[in-house]
Amino acid sequence: MLDKHSLPQFSAGCDVRIPSPDAKAEDCVSRWSRTKLGKPAAIIVPSNEEDIVATIKYAAANGLKVIPVDGAHGTFVPIDEYCIYLPLSAFDRVDLNEEAGSVTFGGGVITRDVIRTLSGKGFYTCVPNSSAVGMAGFCLGGGSSPFNGLVGLAIDNILRIRIITANGEKSVLSPSSSGEDARLFNVLCGAGFGFGVITSITLRAWRIRDLHMDEDKMWTRKLLFPPTAIQAAATLFSKLQHPEPRLLVTLIFVRAPPTAPRPGAPMVMLSIGFLGSAADGGKAAAASFDESVTSQTMVAESGTAALSSINDVSAPFDRHGDYKEQYSAWCSSLSVETIVAAFNRWVRFGEETPEAKMTSFLVLAAKGTKGMLENDTEGRRFFPRSLRGRHIFVQAVPWWTVETAEEQARAWAAETLAIVNAPQHDGLAAENGFTDGDWVTAYAANLSKGIDLTTTWPAFKIDEIEKLKGLWDPIGVFWNPVVDGV
Ligand SMILES: Cc1cc2nc3c(=O)[nH]c(=O)nc-3n(C[C@H](O)[C@H](O)[C@H](O)COP(=O)(O)OP(=O)(O)OC[C@H]3O[C@@H](n4cnc5c(N)ncnc54)[C@H](O)[C@@H]3O)c2cc1C
Repeated sequence: MLDKHSLPQFSAGCDVRIPSPDAKAEDCVSRWSRTKLGKPAAIIVPSNEEDIVATIKYAAANGLKVIPVDGAHGTFVPIDEYCIYLPLSAFDRVDLNEEAGSVTFGGGVITRDVIRTLSGKGFYTCVPNSSAVGMAGFCLGGGSSPFNGLVGLAIDNILRIRIITANGEKSVLSPSSSGEDARLFNVLCGAGFGFGVITSITLRAWRIRDLHMDEDKMWTRKLLFPPTAIQAAATLFSKLQHPEPRLLVTLIFVRAPPTAPRPGAPMVMLSIGFLGSAADGGKAAAASFDESVTSQTMVAESGTAALSSINDVSAPFDRHGDYKEQYSAWCSSLSVETIVAAFNRWVRFGEETPEAKMTSFLVLAAKGTKGMLENDTEGRRFFPRSLRGRHIFVQAVPWWTVETAEEQARAWAAETLAIVNAPQHDGLAAENGFTDGDWVTAYAANLSKGIDLTTTWPAFKIDEIEKLKGLWDPIGVFWNPVVDGV
């Protein structure tokens, strides 16, 4: 156990907690998932950058790792007695610069705060689909958002990063950084875990009114199918699976909640969002009005939603605790048979695994790729270009309540990825001038225990990450998936 008296002098506002020997990990740390969660040596909540520098130096001198924490939604980062857990909750400022069209947020800011500040002033930026996810953690993994089709990924829109590296130095990095700073900036864009403590990020921000939505609201459409109509739902999704940049189409398989008439019954929901006028949205999603589709639904309704409420629907998934992971694949297309097979496998998993039945879900999300392809630049290929041309993001979320269900949960997720059979050699990579890495199907935001990292980055990028770790963090004071493993 770490001795409190051996710690350096921190500022008066810095909160230092040393877990007692009999404390359980989950009493010390609240994370979205309990996977890989052990008891840290200490929890230090810095109140300024000097506290961070002091923590890094102390950790380096004592063989400990520093784990910067923003939204605590990373399921893949190991926490154990050799870690200092470093919540950045005091770095909580969100500053919109309307004239420059940019927003600067602190390293501890979560999505909710950015959405609230920006939408209140008529702006939006790249955000994840959960308001509880940390904005810094989101950006470091690449940053996939509903705006991918229009403006690209979050990493395509980073203007500045303020970081404290392993030697305790503070730097401001940007797309115009040069030399080793440029390499550091680039690796932070898509493979950014474990290179330092980020105290702020500046992203581009855009005016909502420029989306030309009716009354600045997104057009929406929801269709709820009974499980017996999976074929119709899959057929509709496959018709809409290559959407134009403003159209978002999500097919989700979830279980009816305990309060529903048939608790635990499989539900098939198809939700459509359109970042433009209702008239254009109706045209883009015309297939969803077809009588052959609507006659098979329990609910089929259109509406509007403010961008400030874009994540309300995912709020039930924000709860901390239990065991959860995310397994993802970016795909070019999915056949109706594939979607039905994935649905049937999900239903069977729930029936065989009561400890994961009510909570595990599968998402198939189709988005435009124009913004992702147009905004790619050579230096930022830590989010491989081979993924940028793929419209469909598949995400299996095994969520189990007791440790013993782990094996079945993982087996379901792995089988689901095998069913969707991400097109590793679909030629998109070569077509887009990307000669290596067409084996890649996942991305850094969704790492999971034991994942083969060559599905996340091409081999030459893995080598580059390792080299950059050697350069910027030679003694490994920060956890990194490539060097330390997942
Ligand atoms: C429910 C849910 C929804 C999601 N939706 C999306 C989505 O729509 N799009 C998307 O791209 N991703 C999404 N993700 C994935 C998410 O972006 C990643 O898991 C991300 O790394 C989580 O960041 P965090 O700050 O919440 O987690 P944390 O556990 O706090 O951090 C994750 C990693 O980032 C590092 N980190 C965090 N903050 C800092 C910092 N200030 N300085 C240095 N390192 C830092 C941590 O050390 C850790 O390695 C989602 C995840 C969940 C669980």
